[in-house]
Amino acid sequence: MTQSRTSKLRILCGVVVPLAAVLVIQQSGLVAADAKKEDPQPAIVDAGPVGGPPSDAIVLFDGKDLSKFRGEKRAEPTWKHANGVMESTPPGGIFSKEEFADCQVHLEFSTPSTVHGDGQGRGNSGVYLMGRYEIQVLDNYNNKTYPNGQCGAFYGNNPPLVNACRKPGEWQTYDIIFHAPKKDADGKIMAGSYTVLHNGVLIQDHIPVAGGHTAASPLQGFAEKGPLYLQDHGNPVRFRNVWVRKLNGK
Ligand code: MG
Repeated sequence: MTQSRTSKLRILCGVVVPLAAVLVIQQSGLVAADAKKEDPQPAIVDAGPVGGPPSDAIVLFDGKDLSKFRGEKRAEPTWKHANGVMESTPPGGIFSKEEFADCQVHLEFSTPSTVHGDGQGRGNSGVYLMGRYEIQVLDNYNNKTYPNGQCGAFYGNNPPLVNACRKPGEWQTYDIIFHAPKKDADGKIMAGSYTVLHNGVLIQDHIPVAGGHTAASPLQGFAEKGPLYLQDHGNPVRFRNVWVRKLNGK
């Protein structure tokens, strides 16, 4: 190839390749200049203190009372509450009065500092979205059980990616992003999903929720939304700072 032809080829590549790149980006809608600062802006949310609640959250328990809950086996919740904390107390769990579909949930829990029992009998409670799909609460600090029943498991369906349990009696966090199963136009159920962080550690990564309630779930069958349910499993597990953000306005 002569020097002249090489130069022409370089010039051609210098023009054609960037032009093609611009066209590809424009096709994909990725040109920043296409977006204008006058476009609708994301809503402003005050994140609040560490652990929330953010300004757009529905606070279910802020330590004062259980007025946002009803009982499971009695009309009124039987759970003890004092000093900003509520404690699972027989004879049953508690349901939020408000119902949710797609949502973000934050709560803090503490299994008993005095350890009794082992396996499933140690610090057992649970967080059920829509009263159906349990993210297990259990003391699995040096306590083995079946993996899809351990702390952070989507109970009976999927074990957590890792065991991020703190010691018994220490406060721990769950941050849950839940998408409810939905029905398509033919009535077929399309799976939702669970994403869960335990003490800030990812333990469920967009796991399908395809109607995977267990026989022990207090509510059964398909529903478009349902209450947040906290389980009483006979162990005095404590909770505080419980809030929910509705996603997609539902
Ligand atoms: Mg449980």
